[in-house]
Amino acid sequence: MSPLSKSLKVLALENLDARTCACGGMKIRGLPFCQGCIHALPPNLRKVQYVTNSDGFAGLWDEARDFLRIEAGRIKP
Ligand SMILES: [Zn+2]
Repeated sequence: MSPLSKSLKVLALENLDARTCACGGMKIRGLPFCQGCIHALPPNLRKVQYVTNSDGFAGLWDEARDFLRIEAGRIKP
């Protein structure tokens, strides 16, 4: 595993364990995003909430975060 992908995994897991969503809103610990962000995701990215224990979680979380920032405008740069 490269240092870059390792740090992404750490970041994704820290966000999962936090009570603050990437958008700045409140969320439930153990969920990757708040409900507003989850609902803003397309179905292929919304499944991120069901794969939090899998190896693919960090990559999907990163894709979902990009979508929320770039497409949905929910995360301010
Ligand atoms: Zn959010």
